[in-house]
Amino acid sequence: MPSWKAAAPVVGFDLDLTLLDARAGIRATFAALSGETGVSVDAELAVSRLGPPLESELAHWFPAAQVPAAAARYRELYAVHALPVSRPMPDARAAVDAVRRLAGRVVVVTAKSTALARASLDRIGIAADVVEGALFARTKGAALRAHRVDVFVGDHLGDMIGAREGGALAVGVTTGPCSAGDLHTAGADVVLTRLGEFPPWLLGEDTRRR
Ligand SMILES: [Mg+2]
Repeated sequence: MPSWKAAAPVVGFDLDLTLLDARAGIRATFAALSGETGVSVDAELAVSRLGPPLESELAHWFPAAQVPAAAARYRELYAVHALPVSRPMPDARAAVDAVRRLAGRVVVVTAKSTALARASLDRIGIAADVVEGALFARTKGAALRAHRVDVFVGDHLGDMIGAREGGALAVGVTTGPCSAGDLHTAGADVVLTRLGEFPPWLLGEDTRRR
């Protein structure tokens, strides 16, 4: 069992469906985008597979040439329709508090734009030391390595790939689209069924590593 890379743990968290529940607002944002563009997006399907970059989702619905403009407009609409109704996932604040109690650092690494990620965290009352947006899977790994993250917590296969790539212990939570089996297959070292299991797990891990 390695010790922490620094004096205290550095814990990375994914945002959507790990710390943040923006599903209602995302449905409303897609509805608004469909209303403006005339392009029908199945918001329920989109919400069922959150994790990859917005542009990947939009590419299912818009011609490639229109994706950048649709993404830009989506982000404007998101600020209006999704930010105000954003909620923390159950026990998200407790999970972050558990890191703070160990004098650790919190690094949020997400596919969401950095600006919307910061605004979302403000909205749900979670303070992160670092927010790195517009990253997914292997590119999350680069950020995790740069910030010397010890443990990365996420709900998507891409988070497990990123954790592995970034030299962090991969902790999966089954609060998103991926099953425990899928998360293990993607490289999860630990799988939790809900974030409420994270504080005691972290405390145990801290004891093992000191
Ligand atoms: Mg996620």
